[in-house]
Amino acid sequence: MAFTGAGISTESGIPDFRSPGGIWSRHRQIMYDEFMRDPAARLEYWRQRCDPEMDMSAAQPNTAHLVLARWEEAGRLQAVVTQNIDGLHQLAGSRRVVELHGTARKVKCQDCAALYEARPYIEEFRTTGRVPSCPACIKGRLKLATISFGQALDADVLQQALDWTHRADLMLAIGSSLVVEPAASLPRLVSERGARLIIINREPTRLDSAADLVLHGSCGELLAEIARCLDA
Ligand code: NAD
Ligand code: ZN
Repeated sequence: MAFTGAGISTESGIPDFRSPGGIWSRHRQIMYDEFMRDPAARLEYWRQRCDPEMDMSAAQPNTAHLVLARWEEAGRLQAVVTQNIDGLHQLAGSRRVVELHGTARKVKCQDCAALYEARPYIEEFRTTGRVPSCPACIKGRLKLATISFGQALDADVLQQALDWTHRADLMLAIGSSLVVEPAASLPRLVSERGARLIIINREPTRLDSAADLVLHGSCGELLAEIARCLDA
């Protein structure tokens, strides 16, 4: 299985969380309970998410996403568990994808749980400057279908990620600083079980000492190289 973080998508032009001066560090974090209770926080949330700099909807998968999709098709890779919200694994062709932090390609009504494509709502906000509301229950509060700061992970989604983790004989942890919990505990579980852990990241991570192999470099270049070796 693969476990991926923001680093697998930087080569698609989406900045990761911890890059200095990154867009995420310039925005105030809106906590989930604030979003739920305060109309001004909802306006600020939509303003941030519709900022063209924050918008990931035009990004395309890169070599790393494509290699993983190809391995799944070839029966080499069982599943991708990702912390990313950009939807690029599915765009690359991966089918078994567990999105721990949800997806920015959809919006979800926080009152009736209805799901919609995000695109038209983002365009609506850009044109009108008004926070959109749910067409099904009329006044429902719409938010991207992602896990917000202060919001718990979806229990079923987390369980699916744990199931893959318990079954895996090898995990490739790709492009993650492995600090965000509870997601970062998945690679730890793999190494504690005695299954293989390979970490692919530009810089050292907390779990490097627990890994069987650590490859420092670009996700795209390293995965392309591994794919070439396997093909040979
Ligand atoms: P992170 O930002 O904490 O760590 C990313 C790691 O990837 C860093 O250690 C960095 O050195 C490395 N990296 C960056 N580009 C790389 C490349 N091209 N090749 C190899 N390594 C590279 O990311 P995280 O651990 O995923 O945690 C960030 C949180 O923020 C996640 O929970 C995620 O939901 C969210 N986030 C998502 C996206 C996205 O969906 N693309 C982007 C930013 C943040
Ligand atoms: Zn609704």
